[in-house]
Parts: sequence; C-alpha cells; structure tokens
Amino acid sequence: MAKEPLQQQLALLYQLQTRDQELLSMQEKLQTIPRQIEQLAAEVQRYEEDIEAKSAELAETERVQRSKNAEIEMNSVQREKYRDEQRTVTSNEAYTALERQIEFLDEQDGAAEDVILTLMEESDRLKEELTELEVEINKEKEKTAAETEQLQQELHALKAGRDEKLKQRKAFLPKVDKELRDEYHRWMKAQLAARSSAVRTQAGFVALEENGTCGSCRIAIQPQTLKEAQKYEKQVYCSSCKRLLYIEPAESDAESS
Ligand SMILES: [Zn+2]
Repeated sequence: MAKEPLQQQLALLYQLQTRDQELLSMQEKLQTIPRQIEQLAAEVQRYEEDIEAKSAELAETERVQRSKNAEIEMNSVQREKYRDEQRTVTSNEAYTALERQIEFLDEQDGAAEDVILTLMEESDRLKEELTELEVEINKEKEKTAAETEQLQQELHALKAGRDEKLKQRKAFLPKVDKELRDEYHRWMKAQLAARSSAVRTQAGFVALEENGTCGSCRIAIQPQTLKEAQKYEKQVYCSSCKRLLYIEPAESDAESS
C-alpha cells in the first residue's frame, strides 16, 4: 500500500497527539479525584479522632469523680465506726485519738470534695465541647457526603469519557503511518517513564509551527528548515527542541481546525 503524502501523515499524527494529550489530562484528573475523596474522608476522620480523644478525657474525669465519691463513702462508714468506738472507750486519750482520726477523715473529705468540684467543671467543659463537635462533625459529614457524591459522579463520567476516547483512539490509530506512529510511541513511552517530564509530554512530540516559530520551544525556526519542512519530503525536526515539526498548510484541507 502506497504511503500517504507526508503532509497528511503529519496532520494525522498531530491529531493523534492532540487526542493523547486529552487522554493524558483525563488520566491525571482520574488520579486526582480519588485523592480528593480521600482528603474529604480524612477531614471527617480528624473530627472523629478529636471526639474520641475528648470522650476518653471525659470518661477519665468521670472515673476519678466516682473514685473520689467512693472515698468519701468509705470515710463516712469509717467515721461511724470511730463514733461508735468513742461511745464505748473509757479513757480520754483514746477518745481524743479517735477524734483526731475523725478530723483526719474530715480533712480527706474536704480535699476529695475540692477535686470533685474541679472535675465537675472539667466534665461540664468537655461535655459542651463534645456537643459542639457533634454539631460540627454532622455538618462536615453532610458536606463531605454531598461533595463525595459529586466527585464520584465526575469520576464516573470521566471514566466513561476516557473509555470512549480510548475506543476512538484505537480506531484512529491505523490511519497514522506505522513508522511514524512507532517513533511517536517510543518518544511518549520515554517521556512517561521519566515521570517528572509529564509537562514535556503535554508539549508533545509533534510541534506545530506557529508564525515561523516552533510551537513547542517557541524559538524561531531557521528559514532553511522551515522551507524544508514545508516541502513535506522528509521528516524535519526542530533544531533546538528536537521535536518533529508539522506545518499546517495555509489553506488547510486537513481534518483538524
Ligand atoms: Zn522547538
């Protein structure tokens, strides 16, 4: 089968590159959306962790309050015992000793009550903060659910769009000259392997000439090179960025606009 004129081949390759650039940006977005969804979930997770920590703090506060109350309870039993003993002792010394024990219990109770009071204030503060956090997390959850839903829909549409474009690409591919296509694929593969040069990939393998400059590196194409490229007799590359030059005919009869 006779080869199509080079000008047409280049036009087709340029079209393929445009399709691939669209696919690449779709692919990038497809990777970005799940990350955005994860970030939204992480935001809710942060609230949950905050609530968990405060709940644990509250539980601990309440536990200490209970133990202080139990101490007071035990002291009151002990106090009754000392009082009973006071009724039966015969010596003044023994009576005074018991009285001191009771005073000691009273002191202990006083200290325990101070602690309980502080803890009650602490509990109230934590409960208030927890109530606020519950309101906030519910708002956050609602917002996240709505945003996630929207992102999921976007993702779904994007995947469908990409699959359609991939199908179209597959059908389009045989139109491009095999050798040229292979050269293009090798270049793309190398570019994609060097992950950091995703930006360069976006700039393309084929550079479209624009007003006498290379569409990729923006450097003026030498008149000799320009003339040669316009003959479409052989593949001409930009002397500075080494991209394959494609000059659209002035009266474009190519499919691209
Ligand atoms: Zn260039």
